[in-house]
Amino acid sequence: MPSSSVMPALFVGHGSPMNAIEDNAFHRSWAELGRRLPRPRAVLCVSAHWETRGVYVTGTSAPETIHDFYGFPAALFQVRYPAPGDPALARRIASLAEDAHVHVDAGRGLDHGAWSVLRAMYPKADIPVLQLSLDVRRSGTEHYRLAASLAPLRDEGILVLASGNIVHNLALFRFHSHEQPAWALRFRTEVNACIEQRDHRALCQYENLGPDAALAIPTPEHYLPLLYALALQRDGEAVQMFNDEVISALSMTSLIIGDV
Ligand code: ZN
Repeated sequence: MPSSSVMPALFVGHGSPMNAIEDNAFHRSWAELGRRLPRPRAVLCVSAHWETRGVYVTGTSAPETIHDFYGFPAALFQVRYPAPGDPALARRIASLAEDAHVHVDAGRGLDHGAWSVLRAMYPKADIPVLQLSLDVRRSGTEHYRLAASLAPLRDEGILVLASGNIVHNLALFRFHSHEQPAWALRFRTEVNACIEQRDHRALCQYENLGPDAALAIPTPEHYLPLLYALALQRDGEAVQMFNDEVISALSMTSLIIGDV
């Protein structure tokens, strides 16, 4: 257990929903992460799979498990992740991000961007989980500013888990392909260099990250969670990368921000 009382912040490349139930390297890395990090009081997940007009936070005390995918085995649809919510924390989050006018959604449950990772990290589902939505009307810079307003949560034992994929082009994705497209590898190199140089401004303006950006980010929802983790990086804090792999038109690159 680290001596620091500041919670790290995470960006996790979640990839296929099957990572929730398969005993593979990604699932095992998430389980290891759960054992390695200080135990949070609650988790706030920013998932690629909750897009809204305006900003919402889940406010129910018992969020349901949402199966927001098709064409996967029945075993995946049977997964339940019965972590409690925390309505008081939802109100606290709304107050922190006051400028964004965060609405509390009392009905919304947890999507697979959250539970596929959390089921591995915290299999007992005994840590409260909330989700914050992605406002489709915001630019990258506006998402980053909103995320920065959540900084005090790290001092309150809240783990911010941003869940998406930096490279995510399902139209070009080929299951069981070992091919790594040159554009995907180049874009990963470009983004990783910006992360290491702490060039968050460039990452917020991701549309300008060269010709590969349009292929890597055909729609922004899987990329934007990255900005929610980076916005919580404090001066002098390290970033550790893991699962830094390209699989067809997807990257699994993940980050731990803070001392662990
Ligand atoms: Zn996804």
